[in-house]
Amino acid sequence: MDASLYRLKVVCFYCKRKVKNAGGFTRDHVFPKSLGGEDKGNIVNCCYECNQFKADQTLSQWLQVVEVMLKYKLAYQNYSLALLGTIRKNIWNKLRNSK
Ligand SMILES: [Zn+2]
Repeated sequence: MDASLYRLKVVCFYCKRKVKNAGGFTRDHVFPKSLGGEDKGNIVNCCYECNQFKADQTLSQWLQVVEVMLKYKLAYQNYSLALLGTIRKNIWNKLRNSK
């Protein structure tokens, strides 16, 4: 498949927004590389913003941050509360499926 077509289909694993351009597309190590996370079975497509937002946190740590934001209705940068809710759901799913 043409690379540009492929990019059009890329959806962020965490927020499910479409990644609009190549520059906005990243690969996230679900278990952080800085903590020893490997490549195999540990990489998801995600948008640049979510990658920055998650940073070097584990999924559990990131989930706690997102939960607090939702609890106190703290929108974060370009993230609406609805979008934070989507992220929470997808983190939950990932955590559940990886056990
Ligand atoms: Zn995202």
